[in-house]
Amino acid sequence: MRKESLAFFKELVNTPSPSGYETKAAEVYRTYTKPFADEIRTDVMGNVWAIINPKAKRQVMLAGHMDEIGFAVHYVSDEGLLYFSAIGGHDSAIPVGQRVWIHGPKGRVPGVIGRKAIHLLTQDERKQKPELDDLWIDIGVSSRDDAMGLIELGDVVTYQWEFQKMAGDVVTARGFDNKMGCFIVAEALRHLSEKKPNKDVGVIAVATVQEEIGLRGARTSAIGTQAEAGIAVDVTHAIDYPSVDKKKHGDMRMGKGPVVARGANINPVMFDLTKQAAKDEGIDIQIEVEPGGTGTDANAMQIAGAGMATGLLGVAIRYMHTPVEVLSLTDVEQCATLMAAVCRKITAKTDFTPR
Ligand SMILES: [Zn+2]
Repeated sequence: MRKESLAFFKELVNTPSPSGYETKAAEVYRTYTKPFADEIRTDVMGNVWAIINPKAKRQVMLAGHMDEIGFAVHYVSDEGLLYFSAIGGHDSAIPVGQRVWIHGPKGRVPGVIGRKAIHLLTQDERKQKPELDDLWIDIGVSSRDDAMGLIELGDVVTYQWEFQKMAGDVVTARGFDNKMGCFIVAEALRHLSEKKPNKDVGVIAVATVQEEIGLRGARTSAIGTQAEAGIAVDVTHAIDYPSVDKKKHGDMRMGKGPVVARGANINPVMFDLTKQAAKDEGIDIQIEVEPGGTGTDANAMQIAGAGMATGLLGVAIRYMHTPVEVLSLTDVEQCATLMAAVCRKITAKTDFTPR
């Protein structure tokens, strides 16, 4: 991966952005896309649009959500312990024993998520997984007043894990879901600034907000951009480790190329263009079958307003919604190349009506 691109990816991943609190990631996205966008806009939701050919008759919207899952502090006990609620979908087995940052008014505050020690658990407690309600964050103070000197109610919390290289092209971090997608739309736009789309086609690369809590930013962006066509990109599950069943989930693997979704959420013309673009670029793709609406921005985009011809790309990652998501950088790069190539195939005359 290009040095500047990797640096941007790392910064984006390491920048905390739980849903509703994406402004810092938005700034990183704006700064990176500025040199190759003709125009950048930020709307009242916080979505950032980086646009090439803003005046073109036909607009294509790209969407990669920049929010990540996290927690929000909703109560501080007399002992100074912080109780928190989930932003997005969490497995309650994960938080115990993690270091976290509380993003407070005076900067980030370190904390740990505590639970009573193994020796103090009863036989029954040992067999059960804790509920989020049973957990708290300890920031090292011993009273509510001391805690409130450092944080405020509503402060958001993220795990301390950051971007780390592993063997080969494999990397791990929290929040690849979906900083990875946000990175891909930015890279697709960069590719399109080097090798342009058709001159009557504009591309609006949107870093969307609030995906993890109901695809909220994609919905308003789809209406705001009035794009007739769009492509979302998000993580999907790699079904390549023990205990997951290919017969049930299909056969997506990390390191085997971008994933292209097919099903009701995907416009058939867009799907065919994507397949053709992959062939032309010499990129191997994996097909993920989505029999209904997907849980991604593509779903909100497709049914916003009078409807949008949507496509959905993905990268197969391991351990989604944990602080140790794992992916292949080559998959990510190829996904960005593919996304740009699909955009170049679209003309003002492309008829997306299913026939
Ligand atoms: Zn997610």
